[in-house]
Amino acid sequence: MKIHSFNVQPNLPENIKFLEELANDMWFTWNWQAILLFVMVDSKLWTAAKRNPKWFLGCVPQKRFEELSKDETFVNNLNQVKEAYYNYKKNPHTWYQEHRRENGNLLTAYFSMEYGIGEGLPIYSGGLGMLAGDHIKSASDLGMPIIGVGLFYKQGYVQQVLNREGWQNEEYPDNDWAHMPVTRVTDAQGNEITIDIPLGAETVKACIWRVPVGRTSLYLLDTNLQENTPAQRAITEKLYGGDRENRIRQEVVLGIGGVKALQAMGIKPTVFHINEGHSAFLLFQRIIDIMNEKHLSFSEAREIVWASSVFTTHTPVIAGNEHFDPALVRKYMQSYADQMHISWDEFLALGKETPASATYCMTVVALRLSAFCNGVAKLHGLVSREMWHNLWPNLPVSEVPITSITNGIHSASWISHELNELYRKYLFNGDQRGEVDPSDEHAWSKIDTIPNEELWKIHSVRKNKLIDLVQNRLKRQLTRQGFDIMTVKKNSKVLRPDVLTIGFARRFATYKRATLLFKDLNRLDKIVNNPARPVQFVFAGKAHPADTAGKEFIKLIVGLTQNDPRFKGKIVFVEDYNMNTARYMVQGVDVWLNNPLRPMEASGTSGMKAALNGALALSVLDGWWDEVGPCDFGWSIGGPENYKSAEERDAVESESLYSIIEQEIAPAYYEKDANGISSAWLNLMKESVKHIAPVFNTNRMVKEYYERFYIPANNYGMILQEEGKAQAVAQWRNKIAQNWYRVSVTDTTPQPEKAILMGDKVNFKARVQLGNLAPEDIQVELCIGLRGTLGGIVKEEAIDMNCTGKDGDAYTYEVSMSPLNSGRQDYAMRILPANNNIPNVLTPLFIRWEE
Ligand SMILES: *Cc1c(COP(=O)(O)O)cnc(C)c1O
Repeated sequence: MKIHSFNVQPNLPENIKFLEELANDMWFTWNWQAILLFVMVDSKLWTAAKRNPKWFLGCVPQKRFEELSKDETFVNNLNQVKEAYYNYKKNPHTWYQEHRRENGNLLTAYFSMEYGIGEGLPIYSGGLGMLAGDHIKSASDLGMPIIGVGLFYKQGYVQQVLNREGWQNEEYPDNDWAHMPVTRVTDAQGNEITIDIPLGAETVKACIWRVPVGRTSLYLLDTNLQENTPAQRAITEKLYGGDRENRIRQEVVLGIGGVKALQAMGIKPTVFHINEGHSAFLLFQRIIDIMNEKHLSFSEAREIVWASSVFTTHTPVIAGNEHFDPALVRKYMQSYADQMHISWDEFLALGKETPASATYCMTVVALRLSAFCNGVAKLHGLVSREMWHNLWPNLPVSEVPITSITNGIHSASWISHELNELYRKYLFNGDQRGEVDPSDEHAWSKIDTIPNEELWKIHSVRKNKLIDLVQNRLKRQLTRQGFDIMTVKKNSKVLRPDVLTIGFARRFATYKRATLLFKDLNRLDKIVNNPARPVQFVFAGKAHPADTAGKEFIKLIVGLTQNDPRFKGKIVFVEDYNMNTARYMVQGVDVWLNNPLRPMEASGTSGMKAALNGALALSVLDGWWDEVGPCDFGWSIGGPENYKSAEERDAVESESLYSIIEQEIAPAYYEKDANGISSAWLNLMKESVKHIAPVFNTNRMVKEYYERFYIPANNYGMILQEEGKAQAVAQWRNKIAQNWYRVSVTDTTPQPEKAILMGDKVNFKARVQLGNLAPEDIQVELCIGLRGTLGGIVKEEAIDMNCTGKDGDAYTYEVSMSPLNSGRQDYAMRILPANNNIPNVLTPLFIRWEE
């Protein structure tokens, strides 16, 4: 059977036609006045349409549009939003316009498997997607030239449906492009663009959807086309869906297809940002393109690609890093190795952590072929350097070139509109067009000017809204589960607005330890049912469909909340955690609980969302919270120490959790005056917002990516594309490799005749053998620091030594310096390659210490 379809557009009256334009740009997701317009059209329908305006507009009866076009208030509001939107789109004074300082024209292509932009576009599953969405939104706000590339999944974010026993089942609603804010990308003649992607023995076709996100766009590839076979159409069926084979096919479509799609659209990025290893195959397509276009060899083209690639790794969980069976990789990537004229073994080596590794790891590929690599919080940077040290075996761990740029959140997307208004009133005046920059520390420092009563009132409003949401969700859930009306009514009357409320919501990956709170139920009973200082808890979260252990956690918590009289109505589990649920929770709770196994939570962002809304953090010293440091506006569970066993850790940390709630949190919260306000608590809220809001947001983060990565990646990429440069660097690298075995350094510093006093200069000397290399090819460093436990030196400072001449067949090097500290000083000398035309000499990994 052949099914045809056509699309009927709602026929909006002229004066409110703008609603259609608004529905087609994800800009509305972070502009409350815009959202309010849809709510005014029909608030029930808006919720029923899952806050997807395009779908929503298609459901509104024509009669309602006619009414609205005559409603003066509505039309006025609409015109205000329209003006704000157009001003935003054409503002020539964006942060980027005023601060840009790279050479040429930067354009960053950001590749990610998932994006959490809004509920109406459910192509995300968790924190990685949220971060990608927030990155793109802040790029838009800053006017930064970044476009997103991803996949358009037919079945979106899994919905969680709990059965009576509290077991999680899943539903996958279909994403229908006709109801999504997406349009097919066409060429200049108006023909829809499709691209061909070689996929092993097959060729798969993909089309491209564009999603406008304010000043920027997201491009999504889709293989669900009639021209494709059923198996090919299934490639983009489900986010992280299917078997290993489908996963690698998805990653070929995202990485290789993504580069081809940009080309087909005539978009020429200067920097590629790989957000987690899934899209790392893009590196190969770029190498192939540059080889063909510039007639370069693999090693020459690789220099250009490496210098202009950015890679962000997101997880210390081993299984979270994509590993493939080499045979599977060969099936799909042999043809790409052929196009690069490298052998299969050479290709494979790029993805093997060590020559002995049995798997091909996408993280390893991305680390090897990107000059700019980072983890997503300071502690995660440290953990990543240790985790991937094998790739740079001669380098001290501290110098492994994986730095960190700490994650953030797109503030406007996560702040409650009530609180946003309050912040606007007291903290932000906005620029001439009303835009505010959440990374403006000065603005946040004015938070003490907000009267406590006002802040508390807003917080209470949001708490009541959260309680309403929880009750409604419970009603829906219990009704669906077939309970009678009386039971539904009775069992959904939960939570009290005057009680200290602690929230916990995240994916139920086991390392996040959702059940830590339930370790000692008697103790928890005393906390929850303390007559003077009661505490209530709101939980939410999904387990991965295949994660039985995570589902057991959910079942256990749901069971306690439904069947244990001590906790019934006081600890609740909200079904179907998603962006919307997340928003209600982070905006309504008093305290946000985060207790993963340190250091498994690379950053975590839900705590930042809560903090922005005035909730206080109660967290293990992991991810972003670890770098807030010791503070008096939140609480740290346990310490940074390592434990002998998981049991011991759980015991120590649950004890710490209980006693902090009992002895610190509850007393501060309930220290209320006659007006029911605890000024101690409000001061904590203000301190917390003041310190956290300006730092842990994506505006700060995207600026940091710009300064530290995008500018140099753009500039080095350009330098290396100059005539002959890539060849010269490749030759230099080859020469280094050929000669490195002959390179050596010997310390010839004379023994001091008398004790060295602070302030004295010491003249360090070395003899250096270079084989066929010249002093320009290398640098000699004096590393001063302390002897490490493994025999190496932990570098505190590396000082360049200067070539002072030749002594026979060796070069002499010298540097004089005054020791910075007294006491024993350890030092070591080493030789590194040197080249001004590349961003980072550590990556090729030649390093020679004195032996
Ligand atoms: C913020 C958010 C996450 C990520 O939260 P973490 O603290 O990193 O676990 C996941 N899912 C949704 C829906 C979110 O809003």
